[in-house]
Amino acid sequence: MHPSIIFIILVLAAIIWGIKLYRERARRNRLFQQPLSSGQITVLENHVPLYTRLPKDLRQTLQGCINYFLDEKVFIGREGLEITDEIRLIIAANACLLIVNNRERYFSGFETILVYPDTYVAKEVSYDGMVEVHKDVARAGESWYRGPIVLSLSDVMHGSGNEQDGHNVVLHEFAHKLDEESGVMDGLPVLRESAHYKEWAEVLTQEYDEFLDRVDRGKNRVIDEYGSVSAPEFFAVATESFFEKSEQMKKRLPELYKQLQTFYGLDPAEW
Ligand SMILES: [Zn+2]
Repeated sequence: MHPSIIFIILVLAAIIWGIKLYRERARRNRLFQQPLSSGQITVLENHVPLYTRLPKDLRQTLQGCINYFLDEKVFIGREGLEITDEIRLIIAANACLLIVNNRERYFSGFETILVYPDTYVAKEVSYDGMVEVHKDVARAGESWYRGPIVLSLSDVMHGSGNEQDGHNVVLHEFAHKLDEESGVMDGLPVLRESAHYKEWAEVLTQEYDEFLDRVDRGKNRVIDEYGSVSAPEFFAVATESFFEKSEQMKKRLPELYKQLQTFYGLDPAEW
């Protein structure tokens, strides 16, 4: 092919790509500027108490984020569950709390959210030496790498309705989604600035070691013991506590709180 034809094709491809990008950005901005309806806000006030505690300006941002989330994600009910607008809204609101002060994050890279009516049974495979062990495990939620989020609705409702018990399966599973944005789910998400990595690594390593020690001694508080499974689980349960036991975390684990405060750009202990 003549070099000038290749050049024209490349220029056209760049123009088409640019138009696509511009349209996508315009669509996102439109959805972000759109407020929720009064009916939707009533649902949040009744089922997402963290929403009512948010500062007013963040409440508006959260509404825009919810609009975009609802436009992007596909919800599928399992075991006969019918997905209602209320279910979609409650899940979206909790997920968007994680990114309400971070306009560069949109939970991209996956589309589907599977919702079971209640705790569901998942097959788990582990290895005992050379032996492959299959077992059925009851789950409230899971996050597949670059794949769907799976949630139990009864756990979603319970976690969302009680904003002070440190348990919120939506915050937990979507924290895993933020974690995997770095390319690997290892408890180290993409931080806001490259200068933040050193301190994050130092603080999180030390906090995780101290947490494991407290769990061993039966002296653990604030963060769910499930975090002792691995560093990614520690990040996910610490996120739940950051939002739902914020005052306790700020007081008892100030260094960990500070890292999460910088990462999420939020200070829930002040809400
Ligand atoms: Zn987890």
